[in-house]
This record gives sequence, structure tokens and C-alpha cells, in this order.
Amino acid sequence: MAKFNENFLELKESYLFSEVAKRVSAFQQKEPDRSVIRLGIGDVTLPLGKTVVQAMHSAADEMGKAESFRGYGPEQGYDFLREAVVGHYRSFGVELDTDEIFVSDGAKSDTGNITDLFSKDNTVMIPNPVYPVYVDTNTMNGRNIVFINGTAENDFLPMPDKSIHADIIYICSPNNPTGACYNREQLREWVDYALENDAVILFDSAYECFISDSGLPHSIYEIEGAEKCAVEFCSLSKTAGFTGTRCGYTVVPKAIKSVSGDGRAMSLNKMWNRRQCTKFNGVPYIVQRAAAAVFSEAGMAEAKAMIAHYMENAKIIADTMNDLGIRYTGGINSPYIWFECPFGMDSWQFFDFLLEKAGVVGTPGAGFGENGDKWFRLTAFNNKENTIEAMKRFRSVLQ
Ligand code: PLP
Repeated sequence: MAKFNENFLELKESYLFSEVAKRVSAFQQKEPDRSVIRLGIGDVTLPLGKTVVQAMHSAADEMGKAESFRGYGPEQGYDFLREAVVGHYRSFGVELDTDEIFVSDGAKSDTGNITDLFSKDNTVMIPNPVYPVYVDTNTMNGRNIVFINGTAENDFLPMPDKSIHADIIYICSPNNPTGACYNREQLREWVDYALENDAVILFDSAYECFISDSGLPHSIYEIEGAEKCAVEFCSLSKTAGFTGTRCGYTVVPKAIKSVSGDGRAMSLNKMWNRRQCTKFNGVPYIVQRAAAAVFSEAGMAEAKAMIAHYMENAKIIADTMNDLGIRYTGGINSPYIWFECPFGMDSWQFFDFLLEKAGVVGTPGAGFGENGDKWFRLTAFNNKENTIEAMKRFRSVLQ
């Protein structure tokens, strides 16, 4: 009989968004005349930019003509897109080689798939709270996980504890769900810790485009030495509304060395290339043309306009927290506002309270780790009118 992977028995039930949907639908059935405003999901609401859509149209036309039709493309992505990504990194002062960039269908797949490269015997350090994919994928592999605590005391930016050794470290900055973003000095400490411990940092920068503070790093490679210890994952999902179109990119520097159990040096870049060539057949040509258009001058201007729209909503939410004296992080360099549940409620109690009293849907912090039990996430992914109305209702039920 086929023996299944028993590590799956260790996974916690992932019921966050299904439970949210269930409670919202029950509320709507009970009170069909009440309007519900959703500030819960982490999905974009604005359509793709004009430049991106035009690029998709022309690529589709190319696919329909014998002389420009394309079949299988390079597993690592077309050079035109890898070069555009290199250009994007250059705008932060980071120099990369084209063959350090791997195009994929998004950061979720890559942050999960990268676990293929590491032995089961590694200790993995993961912040709590954080995007749940890191915990679940390592649990599926049966790795030992140590959590580092994000709390109000450290502004949800846990720092390395030198008394604990880790081999693999996940960092998400700006963070989902807390919106907190590491500064240069803090990332310097993480890079130093990784180099001292011969560890690899898996740096998720999916929200880098929301960083508005010019002093904050967009990429871990802005920190010297990171090219020897960090892999970086990024995505066009939030940068340019690609959540449904699907395109991301992962940077695996050639300078990172890993070792086999018997001490032989291995290149992580070569391993990832081998992994992708074996298990992945690339992102559709049409999507890669659309992605390259994001990095054009016009495409970037459109992406920035979308981000500015969301950040206006984030400010409306953050201003409300300030006025009501509620402790929160995020909202400045991130589309997420993470706040302490009022009245000492836990996050599911507050979810029900906000839905019942205000008809506003958010995300209970408990879904991102135990440290989120008394915290709550609202997102800027909606239109301005709804955000203003949601915050008007929020004030009225909390004042
Ligand atoms: N990383 C983080 C921190 C996220 O919050 C998300 C999506 O919400 C992703 C990665 C997934 O991105 P993608 O759509 O590129 O798979």
C-alpha cells in the first residue's frame, strides 16, 4: 500500500478564510438588508494597467502567427524579463546577474518549492505571526521549526537571538500580516547572524513596492554580504495587480554556498536551476510580456498610481487608529494595518463584533500564529468610498 507523508498529519487545519466566509455568509442570511464592507482579504481590487494589457494583447497576437509563435520557453524565464528585473534591482542600487533571476508563477510557489533544496535536518526559524505558507511547507517536510516572536514590544520586528542556532531563516518585510518593515540596521543584524551561523535567509519582499519611506531597504541585497546568504522572493501580485495573472521572480545569488551532509560545497543557484528545470516548465510567454511591461516607464507609473490609491486607503485606516488611540503597526509602508483588538477581545470575538455591529469584515490575527490571538488585520485593498464608510462605522461602534 502507498504510504503517505505522515507530516501532513502535523499540519494545523487551515480554516481561516473558509471560517471568515462562513461567518460572513451566515450574517448576510440573517440580515440581508445590511451592507457588508470587506477589508479582510489580501487580494488587489484594481484592474491591470493599460500598458500591461496592451503588452498581453500584442503577445497574444504574436502567438497566433507562425513566424512569432512560441512553444516551450526557458524554465528560468525569458531574458527580456530577467533583464527587466535586473534593471528594477538596479533602481535600488543592487547589481545582479541575469542568471541569478528565476521567473515563476508567483512567490507562494517559490517560497514553498525552495524547501526542496534543503535537507530535512535543518532547523528553520520563522517569525510568529507571519504568512502561513512558511510554516506549512516546512511542516510538510518534517523540519524542526523554531519561532521568533513578533510582539507589540518589538513592534512585530523580531531580531536574532544569538543563543539560538538556525540554518534557515524566513523574513517577510514589509510583513504580512503586521505591515512592519525592517530598517537597514535591523537587516544588517540578520545578515550578520546568518553569516555567523552559516544559515540561509529566505527573504520575502512581496510587498516591497509599498515602501514609501526612502530610508528603508526594498531588497535584502542592499545590505552588504546578503548576496552570500540570502535568497529573495518577489512578485508582481501586489506591485501591479498580478494576483490572477500570476508572475513572480526569485533571486538566487551565485555567491551562496550550501554544503551536503558530508561537507561538499554546492551552489544554491545551480540547485535551484536544476530543480526548476526538472519540475517547472516556465511562465506563459504572454504573461512574461505583461510582466516586462510593468518594468517599463509607463508600466511603472501605472503600478505606482495603483499603489498610491491603496496607500490613501491605508492612511484613512491608520488615521482612524490614531484618533481612537488604538495600538497598531503597518499602514505606512504596507497595505496592511495590524491593530490590537479593543475591549480586551480575542481576534475571533472582535471579528464577530465588527461584523455584527459595523458590517465590516477583517481578518482575525489568530490565523497568522498564536501571537496574533489578540490582534486584527485590515487591508487597504478596496475603493476609497468603502474605506471611508468602513472607518466611519468603525469609529461609531468603538467610540
Ligand atoms: N508572500 C507574502 C508575504 C504574501 O502575503 C503573499 C500573498 O498574499 C505571497 C507571498 C504570494 O504571492 P503570489 O501571489 O506571488 O504567489
